[in-house]
Amino acid sequence: MSAAIGAPCPIKDCAKHAKPGHLMCWPHWRRVPKALNHAVFDTFANLRNDPTAYIQAKDAAIAAVEAKEAAEGGAA
Ligand SMILES: [Zn+2]
Repeated sequence: MSAAIGAPCPIKDCAKHAKPGHLMCWPHWRRVPKALNHAVFDTFANLRNDPTAYIQAKDAAIAAVEAKEAAEGGAA
């Protein structure tokens, strides 16, 4: 049905969609710290053996971006 569009971006208040196979929209994905970015890729490669590790890496990446957004925006 929506083959060309991935899942909605998981970042709070983001209305964009991630590309298929991507965790979040491109502008947000670029903000993921490199270590967490690598952790997502590494755990995704091992998804079948250890799905929990992938979920944790994914959540950490999302939390890191949301923390950056919260630190910058909001009060302004
Ligand atoms: Zn986004």
